[in-house]
Amino acid sequence: MRCRNVQQDLRDLDKAFQNFFTIPGRGFHRFKKKGRNDSFYLEGSIKISGNRIKLPRIGWVKTYEKHLPPILVKSSSNVTISCQAGRWFISYKVDVEPQPVEHPHGCIGVDMGVKTLATLSDGKTFPAVKAYRKAKRKIARLQRSVSRKVKGSNNRSKAILKLQKAHHRVACIRNDATHKLTTYLAKNHSEVVIEDLNVSGMMKNHRLAQAIADGGFYEFRRQLLYKCQWYGSKLTVVDRFFPSSKTCSHCGHIHKGLKLRDRTFVCSNCEFSSDRDWNAAINLQKAGSSPVSACGASNQRSASAGQMRRNRKRTPDEGHVQQ
Ligand SMILES: [Zn+2]
Repeated sequence: MRCRNVQQDLRDLDKAFQNFFTIPGRGFHRFKKKGRNDSFYLEGSIKISGNRIKLPRIGWVKTYEKHLPPILVKSSSNVTISCQAGRWFISYKVDVEPQPVEHPHGCIGVDMGVKTLATLSDGKTFPAVKAYRKAKRKIARLQRSVSRKVKGSNNRSKAILKLQKAHHRVACIRNDATHKLTTYLAKNHSEVVIEDLNVSGMMKNHRLAQAIADGGFYEFRRQLLYKCQWYGSKLTVVDRFFPSSKTCSHCGHIHKGLKLRDRTFVCSNCEFSSDRDWNAAINLQKAGSSPVSACGASNQRSASAGQMRRNRKRTPDEGHVQQ
C-alpha cells in the first residue's frame, strides 16, 4: 500500500538525527525492516461511527471494538496503523477530561514481588501472572518448528506467525494484569507508595531475571505514573536504598541478615512476625504518609495532581481492526 507521508518521514528523520547528536549512547538511525514492528502513519481527517472508522485514503474500516472512542478535538486526526502478530491495530489520539475521583482509601504501600505480583499494605495480594512460564514449552516447540523450516519459504512464514501469536498472547495477559492492578491502585487510593526498583540491576541476577521480566516492573511504574495523574492521586517513589523488607514494621528494628529466600519476616527485637512482602508494603506506606520518611524527603520523587491538569491528552486508544 502506498501511504507514505513524506512530511512525517522528515519529522521522524529530524528527531532521529537530534537524538543521535544529543543523547549519548544513541546510535545512528537505521532503516526500517519489513516484517518487524510494521506500522505506518496516515495524516488527514478521520470519522468515527460506532465500531467503524473512516481513515484517510483507505476509507471505512470495521473494527472489533463495540464502540470506538469519539474524537473531540479536530487537531488529533492522525492515525498510526500497526500490525502485531498478524492483527492490525489503529491508534489515534483522544482528548479526555480527567474526572475527579473520590478515593475511598488513603495512603497505600505496594511491594512488588516475585512470588506475588504485588502485596498491598492493607493485606490485599495480587497473584503473579506466570504467563510466560506457562507458555514456555509451547513457545519453545513453535520456535523449534520455525528453525526447521527453509528460510524464505511459505511454511516458515506460517510458523513464524504461530510463534508471534503465542508471544503476543503472553504479552496481552501480562498487560491485562498490570492494567487492572494500576487502575485499582490509582483509582482507590489518595497516595500510592512504591519502591524505586533497580530493575536492570536485578535482571543481571539470572535466577530473578525471568520472574522479574514476567512481572513487567517497568510497565507497572509507567502506568501508575500516568494513571495517578488522571485520577488525582499522589505517587511517591521511595529511594531504592530504603530498607523496606529489612525493617520491622512493628518496632522499626532493622534486620540486617534477612535473605531473599526468607519468606517470613521475624523481628529479632520484638518477635513480630509477618509475611515478608506484607511487612515491606507496610514500611512503604509509612514512608509515604509521614512527612519526613526514614530516607529523607529529598530522596523521594512524586508526581503531583497539578501535572494532571496540564497533561490532559490520554495515550491513544487502540482499536482492533476486523480483517
Ligand atoms: Zn520488631
